[in-house]
Amino acid sequence: MTIEFETPKPILNQQVMLKTVAENMMRSVSREFDENEHSIPWDYVEFMHTAMKATGGGGLTVNEEPSPQPSPEGRGSRPPIGYQKLAAQIEMLSWGDVGMYLITPGGGLGAAAVAAAGSPEQKEKFLERFNGEKPTYAAMCMTEAGAGSDTSAIRTRAILDEATQEWVINGEKIFVTGGDKSFTEYEKLGKGFIVVWASIDPSAGRSGMRAFVIESGTPGVKINKLEHKMGIRVSDTAAISLVDVRVPYDNVLGSPTVERNTAGFKGAMATFDATRPLVAASGIGVARAALEFLKEKLEENGVKIRYGLPRQKLSNIEREVIDMEIMVKSAWLMVLKAVWMADNKKPNALESSMCKVKAGDVTTKVTQKVVELLGPLGYSREFLAEKWFRDAKITDIYEGTGQINRMVVARHILGYSGKELR
Ligand SMILES: Cc1cc2nc3c(=O)[nH]c(=O)nc-3n(C[C@H](O)[C@H](O)[C@H](O)COP(=O)(O)OP(=O)(O)OC[C@H]3O[C@@H](n4cnc5c(N)ncnc54)[C@H](O)[C@@H]3O)c2cc1C
Repeated sequence: MTIEFETPKPILNQQVMLKTVAENMMRSVSREFDENEHSIPWDYVEFMHTAMKATGGGGLTVNEEPSPQPSPEGRGSRPPIGYQKLAAQIEMLSWGDVGMYLITPGGGLGAAAVAAAGSPEQKEKFLERFNGEKPTYAAMCMTEAGAGSDTSAIRTRAILDEATQEWVINGEKIFVTGGDKSFTEYEKLGKGFIVVWASIDPSAGRSGMRAFVIESGTPGVKINKLEHKMGIRVSDTAAISLVDVRVPYDNVLGSPTVERNTAGFKGAMATFDATRPLVAASGIGVARAALEFLKEKLEENGVKIRYGLPRQKLSNIEREVIDMEIMVKSAWLMVLKAVWMADNKKPNALESSMCKVKAGDVTTKVTQKVVELLGPLGYSREFLAEKWFRDAKITDIYEGTGQINRMVVARHILGYSGKELR
């Protein structure tokens, strides 16, 4: 077996193209869409939809070309790199603008939940739409007031109406990324959906939790408000109420009956195993953007980093920059390990949480340091450094906070269950 440390060629080629998009369609309007919260950059949305459709479609998902047949000597076969490719795409788009990356058309977390917990029929029914004529979105609604980190506290209820064989869902969800674009009917958008986590049996705790696909336009769903946020302001974050929302029986992901184990919640965990490395990749894109900007400004002022010198011969600023580069690189290597495991169908819950913790820390620290080292330039709205600082923190919040992911890591390493360590 050979160990390959080079970035695979298909990824390098894709990065060249994506960098052009990131520079010309994202960076160039980054400030404008930060100032005009929730306005939609249609040029970017429509361009990305068309471009992704032309290259296989389906939004930002694992898109794997078939590997060539190996020769009898084993040459010619290619290891799977779908997740690795996706992580690299997300890193580059987030380097362009992380808020805009979040509104790249496609299924996002909603589709990831269907992919992780849905049956083959459900995948076919719900996931094909992202390759349609219009840009289309999906979102995942798990968080409630009082039930964020502690998902066992979810109060949204789904009750089966035996007469009609429909699920009737009631509850309130908050902080839903892309909730508006997934549910509100915009002329320029296709019909999306939201995936809502609800309990079918509150006495069963997490075992009673199920995810339900609710198609856009379903009566009883209301977008109550869009959050005004510190960062990622172009991305809509919705509060959604569900009043007597009726969905077909087959829209429940996974088994519709309660087994006394944690089967219900396993779908959510599988979703996060797949998406946490991608959140980490996204954060790393922001950190890299900030760090490159700092280096550019330093060079303009005659400070060039002298790599290769002993540490004691470097100036303080050189040491700071090199330390940040080490942080960003090591976080990226952890992402690569987690996505390599996903690509090779190896369980990666530990590595997913690990890289998310690391990237959350690194992104927050690096962007803060860049603002600090740039002095007033870092604080000024003339440059994007202050925006990257605001955008960075979300890496450490959504899809499991830093503290929660640390706990997941500790459980895996020490062999504790969720009940034993919480
Ligand atoms: C911009 C944005 C977008 C989001 N998008 C989505 C989305 O698309 N879908 C969705 O369902 N949710 C989404 N969320 C919600 C996000 O996942 C939650 O905010 C997050 O899980 C934390 O939950 P919480 O807000 O209830 O905080 P809490 O759980 O109340 O936590 C508050 C603090 O306490 C800490 N804490 C909690 N429990 C423990 C513990 N046992 N040990 C140590 N520390 C602990 C947390 O780490 C955190 O620092 C989004 C949030 C934001 C800000």
